[in-house]
Amino acid sequence: MGRLTAIVLGSAAGGGFPQWNCRCPVCRLAWAGDVRVRSRTQASLAVTGDGENWVLINASPDLPQQIRRSKALYPRSGTRGSPIKAVVLTGAEIDQVAGLLSLREREPFTICATAATLAALADNAMFGADYPHFESVVPNTMDKVADLAGDPSVTDADTRKILFDNAAKLYTFDLAVLQPHIDRVGFEVGAKV
Ligand SMILES: [Zn+2]
Repeated sequence: MGRLTAIVLGSAAGGGFPQWNCRCPVCRLAWAGDVRVRSRTQASLAVTGDGENWVLINASPDLPQQIRRSKALYPRSGTRGSPIKAVVLTGAEIDQVAGLLSLREREPFTICATAATLAALADNAMFGADYPHFESVVPNTMDKVADLAGDPSVTDADTRKILFDNAAKLYTFDLAVLQPHIDRVGFEVGAKV
């Protein structure tokens, strides 16, 4: 059995410390550079059992900064490759999930959360707006779409949201106008692509 190791990536409440618009007595010390206080990023943990593969407990909005400060989380091999293999979400609040928006760039990882939290993500237009859309010709895109469509833990409705509906909603696309294009591409949820 490996030893469980945790890195406290951040320990501040929502907004971090000092908060961007706060002049309370404590934040004022931070703004003044007082050595008695230290800036802190928002609460998040990174955990590993083998020192190689890491699990994040929540993805705070400060995640990019937290990764840059934690050598254990630096990309290690190949052109792309992160030791972050999974993210456990304890809820769907912005302080728990906003960091997911920074974990893009074609890096697969597992999200562990309750069904309610996963549904909240699937319903959020921001998760899908940057997905390589089904008509994309980026290498391997269609393989990824096939994986998603064949994943029993992702419903057909959620697949459609992630691949299409979320982006259409975010950019207020007129689906009636797009329909001929959709028909031409032949996208069908649940179908093998
Ligand atoms: Zn304050």
